[in-house]
Amino acid sequence: MGSNFHTHSVFCDGKDAPEALCERALELGFEALGFSGHSPLSFDPCGMRDPLAYRAEISRLKEVYRGRLDIFCGIEQDYFSGYRAPGWDYAIGSVHYVNHKGQYLPVDWSAEETERIVRQDYEGDAMAFCEDYYALVGRVAEVTGCDIIGHLDLIRKFDEAGTMFPEGAPRYRAAVLSALDRLRAGERVFEINTGAMARGYRTTPYPSDWILRELHDRGARIMLGSDCHDRRFLDGGFDAARAAALRAGFRTAVIWSRDGFAERPL
Ligand SMILES: [Zn+2]
Ligand SMILES: [Zn+2]
Repeated sequence: MGSNFHTHSVFCDGKDAPEALCERALELGFEALGFSGHSPLSFDPCGMRDPLAYRAEISRLKEVYRGRLDIFCGIEQDYFSGYRAPGWDYAIGSVHYVNHKGQYLPVDWSAEETERIVRQDYEGDAMAFCEDYYALVGRVAEVTGCDIIGHLDLIRKFDEAGTMFPEGAPRYRAAVLSALDRLRAGERVFEINTGAMARGYRTTPYPSDWILRELHDRGARIMLGSDCHDRRFLDGGFDAARAAALRAGFRTAVIWSRDGFAERPL
């Protein structure tokens, strides 16, 4: 058993060919593997350049692995790519940029870039950056038509200690909670994303424990995702993700199946 539905390959900014990821999934004994190439976006270097070739290759692999591994062709739909195109098996909706005074500013490029944005573009008001980010997160499902909400508090990628974006700050909490209200969180599936752990930026998954408890209490469902860019980490951090989910009160997580979402015990 086991699965992952947040997987990047050489068709966007991942290191591996899709087939190598399928082989790794078999080694791990996965029942399913979902690919989620970044949606094309004019100003985003991570976006897929040839989504049709991606779709053709994943379709081919569905046949190659039929009966051994269920393969799905999804997309990670960025907020600024707009509503998902038809034909994807599922979509993860993610916010990677904010639009501030006409400029697209990245949320997850580097610690230096995050500090520069706060200092220069937001004139030192880090909470204003958070508020702009969570305002988009709150609308990501209606704007992208996604099935799963990706890495909810990505803005804290380089600030796990909360130096720049303290989670106890009333403005921070209010920004997160109003995003959950706007999303109607109880009706949604949220990802517990371990991608920044594999890459050494964080020791814990997204989202934070207090947000996971809030999601649990609102009746939301969760899915584990490794945001894999390297097959060595296809299931990286899943033990920590399961532990975080259990601490928050969850007993099951969902996977994607041919019939849509299906529950699995944690
Ligand atoms: Zn992402
Ligand atoms: Zn991703």
